[in-house]
Amino acid sequence: MNLFSYLRESRGLANTVKRLLAIASRFGVTSRRMENALRTFTAITRRYGCQPTLAATAVLLERYPGVFRRLSTEAELAVHGYVHTDYSLLDGEEQSQHMGQALKAFRAIGLQPDGFRAPYLRWNTASVQTAQHYRMTYGSNRCLHWDVLPAEGINPAARAAYEKGLLLYGSRPASQYPSLPSLVHGLLDIPASEPDDEAMVDRLALSPAERIAVWQAMLQATYERGELLTLILHHERVLLCADALEALLRQARLHRPGVWIAPLRDIADWWLRRSQLRLAIECIGEGCFQVVPPCSDGVAVLVRDAETQPAGSAWYGRWRLAPPGTFALHSRQVPVLSLSSQNDALRSYLEEEGFIVQGPDSGGLRIDGFDDFREEDKRPLLDYIEASDAALVRLARWPGGARSALSVTGDIDAMTLLDFLRRPLEV
Ligand SMILES: [Zn+2]
Repeated sequence: MNLFSYLRESRGLANTVKRLLAIASRFGVTSRRMENALRTFTAITRRYGCQPTLAATAVLLERYPGVFRRLSTEAELAVHGYVHTDYSLLDGEEQSQHMGQALKAFRAIGLQPDGFRAPYLRWNTASVQTAQHYRMTYGSNRCLHWDVLPAEGINPAARAAYEKGLLLYGSRPASQYPSLPSLVHGLLDIPASEPDDEAMVDRLALSPAERIAVWQAMLQATYERGELLTLILHHERVLLCADALEALLRQARLHRPGVWIAPLRDIADWWLRRSQLRLAIECIGEGCFQVVPPCSDGVAVLVRDAETQPAGSAWYGRWRLAPPGTFALHSRQVPVLSLSSQNDALRSYLEEEGFIVQGPDSGGLRIDGFDDFREEDKRPLLDYIEASDAALVRLARWPGGARSALSVTGDIDAMTLLDFLRRPLEV
């Protein structure tokens, strides 16, 4: 797939020429305009004490090495293809060749990228195997969309254009799937969140105030669930969405408990480390347990509907932050999950979520069913645990007891009008 067929497929032929012209008009003849856009982007993130992850098409690093070398001091750079093509149409050997060339371009400016995002979020199993072969730590290629559009005022053609885009990205509703990293064919995938800037500006034609409201609603939804918002903002629309980005980061910084704002590399490192850690529990008397947290930086423990000694502190909803180190927990019920099935995938998932998982007779919250545990079972399972009235103890998902996480990301597909026009020819 190239840019033209992407636009035609995702927007319909009628709008394609119009949209191509609108997008092309944002680029300059030289790279100066986009360099300024990137400076504006990183100036905003710097103001809020964070770094974005920018996935760049590697051929651009060959064309503008100085720009990307400078950018790498302000942002994590990830791979967005060697060229901007649909990698789901290429076989393993072709993808391996492209990735090899991409990494060479990164190495030429002294960078060793940790992750990749496929152009158009289009990938296949070979894309993941290729990334693993090159020892990358993560991908950010699945897509989840949040139900946050304004209730009124979006015309049916704009909504159809947006939905076509979601279809093309293979996007799934965040109401049904947790927005959290997980292994996909053995590689950690950090799902991207829609609507992005392109959807808001070019497909849905939202007003500036609506763009702010949409991203705030996404932050709020991830915060309420303790999940991750992986925002996508392309540098060519930074000026159009700067207010929405600022408002989002300001809001994120105001939350208590906090929102952990980090580049994808840090999210991946944390997730891989944290999901290996386990809480230990021992019954030391009638209704009294000793809880021993793993010894690891940044790890926090949460307790629900049970007293602790020393006392913990208020956190979010029914959950409290446990005191640091080993503590005593008082509860008539054992604060663990009692699994009736022998399903390894289910057990691992719950343990990776930070719960203590024991057998069916352990006296904890019973988890029945889910014999054939699948991706679509995760959201109902988490909802069931959250809604139950059981006493529980778990490891917090995010470092330092943050409630949710936010990663600001962007894809750099072109730096000049010429790059933009060349894209369809580069397959
Ligand atoms: Zn792209």
